[in-house]
Amino acid sequence: MISENQSNRLNFYDYLQQECEKLKSKELWRILRRVESEQSSRIIVEGKSYINFSSNDYLGLACHPALKEAAIKAIEKYGAGSGASRLICGSISIHHKLEERLADFKQTEAALSFSSGYLTAIGAICSLVGKGDIVILDRLAHSCLIDATRLSGAKLVVFRHNDCEHLESVLKRINNGRPANQKVLIVTETVFSMDGDIAPLKQIVELKEKYGSWLMVDEAHATGIYKSGIVNSLGICEAVEVQMGTLGKAVGASGGFICGKKVLIEYLINKARSFIFTTAPPPAASAAALEGINIIDSDEGKVRAGMLLSLIDELKMSLLSADTDVSNIQSAIFPIILGSNEKATKVAKYLMENGIYIPAIRYPTVPKNSARLRITLTANHNPEDVRLLTLSLKSASGI
Ligand SMILES: *Cc1c(COP(=O)(O)O)cnc(C)c1O
Repeated sequence: MISENQSNRLNFYDYLQQECEKLKSKELWRILRRVESEQSSRIIVEGKSYINFSSNDYLGLACHPALKEAAIKAIEKYGAGSGASRLICGSISIHHKLEERLADFKQTEAALSFSSGYLTAIGAICSLVGKGDIVILDRLAHSCLIDATRLSGAKLVVFRHNDCEHLESVLKRINNGRPANQKVLIVTETVFSMDGDIAPLKQIVELKEKYGSWLMVDEAHATGIYKSGIVNSLGICEAVEVQMGTLGKAVGASGGFICGKKVLIEYLINKARSFIFTTAPPPAASAAALEGINIIDSDEGKVRAGMLLSLIDELKMSLLSADTDVSNIQSAIFPIILGSNEKATKVAKYLMENGIYIPAIRYPTVPKNSARLRITLTANHNPEDVRLLTLSLKSASGI
């Protein structure tokens, strides 16, 4: 028998331990905090109550009685699980109803739902482009869009955040000697998840037409706040090839989706591996999402969005008067950039001690040296919450 000296090989558990220590020494260590209440503007974390300024449940629908009831009814009718992937026998009518409603809501020909927004990005990008192609990403695009591009095998090129001049120079360079069959896909968020600003979509559409590329937009943080999204608000639906969104944020449920032409949806059903090789979403999730869209599209949804917008204005005014630069903010997301990881974790801890829950957001969620507090408002907050928040932020600036 051949024996080999194994003593110089890396031990599995030693390796894990070393890597964890590295993260701790850089203040990049993350832990899960156990939430014992439902998701709302107040949450109970490890026995203590906090005002929650970290949720993406922008319209306060996650705990809405109508969504709960829709989920319960779907379980009673279809069961707890979907049994198989959509192409085997899991294509339950509730998923189709959701997709028909999404297409109607977004005013596109068709829609396809996925188990999550992350899987939506992976499925769409990896099936649309591959080796030899190019994906041009806004530098601050969400990690799922970066991961999807890497997995697709296409070359990843970034342009400076919301900078159309730079995007044009990138497109010019690519088009110089570009092979006829090379696909170039521009990908951007509409409302940016960690910065709360909005992409210059009209100019991006002009550029993608001028340079013969395609456009995919991720409306994760716009859907439901800007009605059905920025693309529709601007009336440029026809010009955007691929519209993506998630059902886990303002919609209040869980899942992700793509909207577009019928041929795009049929293509994805056949080609998107994260759609094909996974069990269909649970019926309860699709039913809750359907109800969430119905509410967003109703008078109640308009009232909720209106309440949220007025809270946004209030917070913006008080932060501006405290010299915090929030002039670019056009959404429910307010980044307070603190720079170092140490500073961000320290301030987050201070706020927690004062009953305010806003975890620090650090690399790799945001670029290095731009650690921040990411404040999100929801329609379930009230003006008093915003007042308490600004007071605590003021006193935190002294620490
Ligand atoms: C949250 C988020 C996703 C992922 O959606 P999930 O449904 O949570 O997987 C995708 N894109 C952006 C911009 C997001 O913020």
